[in-house]
Amino acid sequence: MEALQIECFPCRSDNFGVLLHDPETLLTASIDAPEELAVVAAAERRGWKISHIFTTHHHPDHVEANLALKERYGLSIIGPAAEAKKIPGIDRTVTDGSTFLFGSNPVKVIETPGHTAGHVCYHLPEAKLLFAADTLFALGCGRLFERPAADMWASLQKLAALPDETVVYFGHEYTLANARFALTVDPDNPRLLARHAEIEATRAAGRFTVPTTIGLEKETNPFLRAGDPGIRAVLGMEDATNEAVFAEIRRRKDHF
Ligand SMILES: [Zn+2]
Repeated sequence: MEALQIECFPCRSDNFGVLLHDPETLLTASIDAPEELAVVAAAERRGWKISHIFTTHHHPDHVEANLALKERYGLSIIGPAAEAKKIPGIDRTVTDGSTFLFGSNPVKVIETPGHTAGHVCYHLPEAKLLFAADTLFALGCGRLFERPAADMWASLQKLAALPDETVVYFGHEYTLANARFALTVDPDNPRLLARHAEIEATRAAGRFTVPTTIGLEKETNPFLRAGDPGIRAVLGMEDATNEAVFAEIRRRKDHF
């Protein structure tokens, strides 16, 4: 099986667009559809014709170009059943545990309510890829617009349970601000200190911080580390539940 190819590109103010291409079948999926011309330009750079959109959630900066891209390519749009009414042009709905084939690659749907009530992530276990959109960012997680912190904590635990080597593409370049915040709650984590320095250098050079991996996030992302004794000590929450610690980290980030 030839490896899948990926084209990741910045668009809008701080979004990432991602195209996933199967060289065997020539299928190409756009993970969300943030901006028509940026997505089209990325496809044309690689000579790919977009056959699918995998929608993660209904926010306008993820579905705005659905209908325009559908018109242009005649593509098929897959998205979460729970948000189907808010996803323009949706053809096929998926729920937690849904699986389908992209070429010969299995895709598994993971529901991750929190940022929105119906947010889904797309996991390709054989290719070791995860498209996490606005659930899990490098050193961060999505804001809680539609579900409480306990739900988001449970969603993040599903992602943390994937193999460490899983490569994660996410929806926004917020990484430097996330790193600065992470250091306020996890100041003595040597892996986080080293990563912060790397991120500063990456951004200063005008480059982007995508992708990350599940293993790296488990070591450095405070939103996955509510059980960590060091973080709990900083927060004065040694005896709290993981959900309560996570909620406090999220609350502090909202006001950072
Ligand atoms: Zn969003």
